[in-house]
Amino acid sequence: MASSNFNDFVSCPYDKTHNVLRGRLLQHLDRCSRNSNIELKVCPFNDVHRFPEENIGEHIKVCPDRASVELFKNKEKLPGAKAAASIDVVKCDEDWDKDPDVPTYNPNAYCEENLVIRSNVVNGQPRSVRRNFRESERRRFADKQ
Ligand SMILES: [Zn+2]
Ligand SMILES: [Zn+2]
Repeated sequence: MASSNFNDFVSCPYDKTHNVLRGRLLQHLDRCSRNSNIELKVCPFNDVHRFPEENIGEHIKVCPDRASVELFKNKEKLPGAKAAASIDVVKCDEDWDKDPDVPTYNPNAYCEENLVIRSNVVNGQPRSVRRNFRESERRRFADKQ
């Protein structure tokens, strides 16, 4: 409930003397990160959560926004959510490179999902085409592991 109160003042993680309206925090952080010497990692669940590298792992485990992100991921598994799912797959590839240490992230689960989504792309093609496609996709993912 508190996190949706945009009239709250919160202190800036780059400089505790900055008190910023919660609704303006992201803007402030973008500017402040450029002016600050402090390097902070951005929480994968919420852009306004910023922590020193040694603390970000700890935060990710307890991040209050993690539950809603995971809820969203589960929804994707339902049929008919292909559009949302493919957006997340793109994002997932990005995270993969940037944040290999994010503990909640399961690359195998994503590959499974990705495989299903990509297979849907060739539905409507002759069966042999689909089979070949799935085979090559399966090999592709198998190679990655
Ligand atoms: Zn600041
Ligand atoms: Zn967070």
